[in-house]
Order: sequence, then structure tokens, then C-alpha cells
Amino acid sequence: MAPSATPQRIVIENCAIATVDANDTEYASGYLVIADNRIESVGPGKAPDDLENVVRRIDADGHLATPGLVNTHHHFYQWITRGLAQDHNLFNWLVALYPTWARIDEPMVRAAAQGSLAMMARGGVTTAMDHHYVYPVGSGDLSGAIVGAARDMGVRFTLARGSMDRSEKDGGLPPDFAVETLEGALAGTESAIDTYHDASFDSMTQVAAAPCSPFSISTELLKQGAELARRKGVRMHTHGSETVEEEKFCHELFGMGPTDYFESAGWLGEDVWMAHSVHMNDSDIAAFARTKTGVAHCPSSNARLAAGIARVPDMLAAGVPVGLGVDGTASNETGELHTELRNALLVNRLGPHKEKALNARQALRLGTYGGAQVLGRADSIGSLEAGKLADVVLWKLDGLGHSTIADPVAALVFGAAAPVTASFVNGRQIVTDSHLTTVDEDSVARDAREQAQRLARIAAQS
Ligand SMILES: [Zn+2]
Repeated sequence: MAPSATPQRIVIENCAIATVDANDTEYASGYLVIADNRIESVGPGKAPDDLENVVRRIDADGHLATPGLVNTHHHFYQWITRGLAQDHNLFNWLVALYPTWARIDEPMVRAAAQGSLAMMARGGVTTAMDHHYVYPVGSGDLSGAIVGAARDMGVRFTLARGSMDRSEKDGGLPPDFAVETLEGALAGTESAIDTYHDASFDSMTQVAAAPCSPFSISTELLKQGAELARRKGVRMHTHGSETVEEEKFCHELFGMGPTDYFESAGWLGEDVWMAHSVHMNDSDIAAFARTKTGVAHCPSSNARLAAGIARVPDMLAAGVPVGLGVDGTASNETGELHTELRNALLVNRLGPHKEKALNARQALRLGTYGGAQVLGRADSIGSLEAGKLADVVLWKLDGLGHSTIADPVAALVFGAAAPVTASFVNGRQIVTDSHLTTVDEDSVARDAREQAQRLARIAAQS
């Protein structure tokens, strides 16, 4: 959708603006003009007064405008299995949950996707992703349910079409009936790409090839998945270097650590992003930097499962693209990304760099431009710049939670989760005063609870 000859304009003014452009340009009081689905201009002071076709003028006094948040790792289906296996590490948590996850079907996945998307969108996420890798035999059109939920919500979206082909009988963790064959996984991924992937600048839906993790997939699926992705021109995503157990598993099975294993299978490159990357040595980080492989940093999930602290300051210093991820909500029950800005900053200060680890501006960059880089969309989203797509959030910072913090970016990152007065995706407002305009939150909550109860019943009977 190119801008029309007579674009409809929305003018936002009198707010602080953090553009997150290459120079971290900020305005203490500025304006932003949205024309159709693009940002037409952004700058200090008042908007030009000779603009035509202004359909709305928003006085955003007391607010900070930022780029919409970009989530780079999630598993939507876990919305209906939250609060289980509360005191487990990753391996034990997977073993505890796979028998339940193996029972999901299309209505469950649709309701869970709606819940996951609604929770994030209400908190300023404008681009979401779902790494969905559980496709049990006979479970219905799960990819269609997920993409449909994102379209209904009006959120920009990447489906990372996942897969597993290493089940219990091959030494993996998932039950046999919950995995696909190698051929089935590749065919399902190719079909999702052909059906849903839109490579255009304005794209609302993209697809990535995303086998689940080294301990649930065969080396052949990893290799052929990379070949498929590169033949189709889509991005690649998987879990990597999440825990010490995974490192041990890779050494025992493949005779090398996770990063060397991924490299041997064609899985480092500027078209690849990896979730977690917690246990990375200096040469792993150098390999990611050399190949421009991206990382989805998931601080809350890593803490919940006692996985460790990713070396984000070292990755950024080396030039590795890093974004933020909620991760699945069975390991991060909040389901929110705006709170991850704060958690990323705090968790990284517990690492070796202490108070120099990350500052508030770097945390905001991880959640916006860094995420856009990782999803391969930094040309069109991730910063507030003329010509980019109009994905914009207005954070209310003059209320009880924030009014005494003079620096708006510090208020957003260090302070309580800030209310979202307005969130625009592709120029369309999908959040007003902290509530979604595109779906009914109460019915999303009700449907998700019903499906969570149905899944618990089915899992208990099996
Ligand atoms: Zn994950």
C-alpha cells in the first residue's frame, strides 16, 4: 500500500518523543504526523500548520511517543498452560508439560493466540511473533488459527512455523504422537510460507522457518529447514544455547557446543535469529557478530527457568543484533513485553558489567529497533522516522506511577508498567486508554479460560 495522493493525516503533538533512530534523537516536546499507514514527519515543537486532510489532532501532553514494541520470541499456545510446573528448570519443565501440550487442537490454539496477542498489544506491542512448533496429528489448521487471530487483532505479525521430529523413541522429549515426520514438517513449513508470507515493505504477515530446538529435531530437519528457508527467501529461527543441559546434550550427541552445531548445519547468518543465547562463550559471540546472527533476549523466562543471564552487553559491543522476547507464557506468565524493558536492564546489571551493563535508552532500543533488526524489518519499523510504517505508541507518564520522574525514557523503563493511551499499527489505532479496540477483551479472556479447562480435562484423562 503506497501512500495515496491525498493521504488522511493524524497529527500527534505536545508530547516527548524518543525516535530510537541511529542517533537516539529525542524531543522534550515534539510532533508526529501519520499519513495513511506511514510516518510522514517527526520533529520538535508544533506540527506544521499548513497540513491538508487532517482527520484527527491528538494533544498528547503528558505522554512519551515511542516506536511500537517488537516481540521476537513467543509460543502463543502456552497461554492456556500458564502457572504449571512452577519450580522446574527447563528440561524438567518440558518433561512435565509436553504430555499436556501434545493434546492441543485448533480451537485451543485460536483462543490461546488471541489471549497472547491481546495481552501484548494492550501493552504497546505492535509487531508480534509466534514460534509454534507443536502440530499433533489431527489437530486441525493451527497455523491458520494463529495467523487469523493476529489479523483480527490488527497486529503486525511473523509466524515462525516450527516443527519437531525427534520424539521419545529417538531420545527426544516430546511424546511420539506430538511430532511430525521430517517430510511432514518440511511440507507444512513450505505450505505456511506459500499461504501467508508477504515480503512487501508494508507487510502485516511474514513467515519464518523455525524447527524447535536441538533436542527436539533431527540434524536433517535443521539442514533441510535452512535450505527451504533460503530457497523461499524467508528468515530462520530456533532456540539455542538456553541452558547448561542443552550444551551438555550437544556435546554428547554431536561432539560440539550449540553454536558450532548450528554453524555446521547452516544456521548462522544475517537471516537467522536465535532465542535465548544464554550460554555463549567469547568465540560463540564472535561467530554471531561475524555472521550477523540475531538474538531474542528473554530475561524473565530465563529467570523463571533458572537458565542464567545472557551476555547482552557483550553481544551489543560485538555488534550482534539483539531484540527482546516475552517467550511462551508457561515460562513468563505476565505475557507482557513492556515490562521486559525493565527486566532486561535489571537482570543484565546482575551480570559482570554491573551498573554499566545496560541503560534505559539501550533497553528501549532492544524492545524496538533491535527487535525490528532481528525480524529483518529494520527498513520499515522499529524507529520513528519519516517514511517508515506508522507503528507508534503513546505512553501516559503524567499519572501516579510516573509523574515524579522527569526523564520520560527513564519513567518508561525504570517505572511501573506504563499505561498505553494509544497504540497505532500501520496507521490504525488498536489500543485506546489501555484497552483494545479490535477485540472484546472479556470474551478473549472467557474463551481462553474455557479452552484451558478443556485442555486440562483432556490431559488428565490421557
Ligand atoms: Zn521459547
